[in-house]
This record gives sequence, structure tokens and C-alpha cells, in this order.
Amino acid sequence: MAVFEDSAFDDHERVVFCRDAASGLKAIIAIHSTALGPAAGGCRLWHYESDDAALHDVLRLSQGMSYKNAMAGLTFGGGKAVILKTKDFAGTDALYEKFGDFVEKLNGSYITAEDVGMSVAIMQTIARRTRFVSGLPKKSGHAGGDPSPKTAFGVFKGIEAAVQFKLSRDSVKGLTVAVQGVGNVGYNLCRDLTEAGAKLVVADIDPGRVKAACDEFGAKAVGLEDILFQKVDVLSPCALGAILNERTIPRLQASIVAGAANNQLEILADGQRLSDAGILYAPDYVINGGGIINVAMEYHGASTDDDEVMAQVAAIGPRLTQIFAEAASSGRPTNVIADEQARKIITAARQPGR
Ligand code: NAD
Repeated sequence: MAVFEDSAFDDHERVVFCRDAASGLKAIIAIHSTALGPAAGGCRLWHYESDDAALHDVLRLSQGMSYKNAMAGLTFGGGKAVILKTKDFAGTDALYEKFGDFVEKLNGSYITAEDVGMSVAIMQTIARRTRFVSGLPKKSGHAGGDPSPKTAFGVFKGIEAAVQFKLSRDSVKGLTVAVQGVGNVGYNLCRDLTEAGAKLVVADIDPGRVKAACDEFGAKAVGLEDILFQKVDVLSPCALGAILNERTIPRLQASIVAGAANNQLEILADGQRLSDAGILYAPDYVINGGGIINVAMEYHGASTDDDEVMAQVAAIGPRLTQIFAEAASSGRPTNVIADEQARKIITAARQPGR
């Protein structure tokens, strides 16, 4: 594998290849930066076309975590792990325990948690072998548990900030929001939006999810191919990445894009494309930071109630407003401003003496 030649290689501090023949474990842990603290980021279980594809994904995702954690104001660097779902993959306890051993050997420079394909139960198995794990069941009086409602609340506060900035509206009351994907985050977001008086349009590949959103929130269902192009105030992508690109952007009718999905822009230039189209884009890793804020408070053992976590998550609103304002005054796209701010925070933390 050509690590240094990979386009996602960004002077990562460490890349660890984890192999255990007995359990069949093949995993890669990428530590992008520990400048702000231990590199925190979930572990993804995924089938990749090749080992190179897995490497590329983990390099890209770990850099994204550095930016996300920096912009959430956390004392965490950025890291990520992928476990390769090979042809003969068996998700045994032995395999996850072995992964836990590899995490433990890094001695706290990487903290793992759930990502796509993982569960709280798997995290508990990993936790038999390492202390450096988060996303475990919530203990009474402490932060923790499922991060999705916190992520959804952060997205809700981000949408409020965006409608204030773009539409000069104090709330989402009476506005229409199209939500692509009503899974763990999207569904909770629908609840927050409905309680605040917004109208909803939804789509999901799972018809059961769509029906639940229609029944509970009075949402209007539309087809998978149509959800992005609704005539609505806000489009909230909460399913897939790379949905904002040269093919979709010219057809968008919303004036704001603000949702939970990771890596919404197919390429960097799509941020400029949105800006040129007069669409306000809330950078994904800023607006979806609520879950990692919850994970951070859990990891640090914060004895706190949900209100305190929610107060920290709510700060995502003003953070976005500041990015929107800087983008507007400098005439540059919001994603570029967010990347610059994240890199500045990380670089400042790398200065000698800090
Ligand atoms: P999820 O799997 O619970 O929900 C995703 C939903 O999208 C599912 O209901 C799925 O059926 C639907 N979906 C998939 N493909 C679709 C398509 N083509 N069109 C419409 N719907 C489709 O995942 P989640 O935890 O809700 O996360 C949603 C997004 O937010 C992901 O991109 C995730 O990476 C990101 N995110 C999640 C969190 C979190 O706390 N869960 C935090 C940060 C970012």
C-alpha cells in the first residue's frame, strides 16, 4: 500500500495496521493529529473493494475527525479506525477483543467509539481489553449513551442559526424542511423541528421509517430521487455523503443546506458551487458535532445531566453564525472558512510550549 502517495495522506502522525490471523482481524487505525489531545474517532466496520480503499477511507475520516473535534472546542485530536469486513469475516468476540488489544497498545493516543456497522454491545466487548473506548451504555448521572439525539439537537440549532442568517427568521416556525434519511439522527431531528413548528418532507429507503415519520410528525413523503430537489426552505441531508455535486447543486431549490450526513460535498469545489448558487451551506463537521461532544463528556467521566450536554451542543448555533458571517464578509464559501478555522486551531496547539 502506498501510504505516502495516497491523496488523503495529510502528514498523519501514525498509521497502524492490525492483523490477527487466529480471529481473522484486519484493521487499520489512523491517528491524524494529537495536537489537541488524544485522537478520538469511531471505528467503522465496512466491506472495502481493496486494502487501498480501506486505507484511503481511514486517512480521510481521521483528518475529518481532527477538524470536527477542533471546531467543537474539544481537547481531542483526530483519529479513526476501520475493521475490514473480508469475505470470511466473522464478528466474534475474539476479533473485537483483539481489536481492543491493538487500541490498548496505543496507550491512549487513540480513543475508539461507534461508527457505521458498530454497536454499543461491540463497544462493550472491545472495552474488555482497553480503557480507551467511549460510546458505552449511559451510567446514571453521567454523560453517555446513544449520541444520535445530541447530534440531531446540534443540527436543529444549526438550522435555527442558518434561517436567522439567511432568512432573517427567529425560528423555524412555519418553514418547510426536507429531511433525506430518517434514521437515528434524522428521526430525532424531525421531532425537534416539529416541536418548533416546522413542516416536514421526508424520504428514506426504509418505508417503515417513512411511515413512522408521517404518522408521528405529519411529514409528507416523497420519492428517493426527489427529496433533494424539493421547493423548501431548508434541505437537511441525514443519510449519505457526496450528495452535493455538480449534478445535484444546479437542481436544488432550498436556500439552506444544513444536515447531519458526513462528507456531504463530493469535492471541495462544491462548496463554491453552492455559494455561487446563493445557497447557504452549514459545513457538515461543524453542524454534526453534537454526538462527539456527548462522547467527549462521557469519556472524561462528566457527572452531568442531559441539560448540561445540550447546553454545550447548542453552542454549535453561534459557531455556525460566525462562520456564515466570515464567509459573507470575505466572499468565500463556508466550507473553506471552516477548514481554515479548524487548521488554525490545530496548528496553534502544535506550537512549542503548549
Ligand atoms: P442511520 O443509519 O441511523 O440513518 C440513516 C438513514 O438514511 C437510514 O434510515 C437509511 O435507511 C437512510 N438512507 C440510506 N440511504 C438512503 C437514500 N439513498 N435516501 C434516503 N435515505 C437513505 O444513521 P445516523 O446515525 O442517523 O446517521 C446519519 C448520517 O449522519 C450519517 O451520514 C452519519 O455518518 C452522520 N452522523 C451521525 C452521527 C450520530 O450521532 N449518529 C454523528 C455525526 C454524523
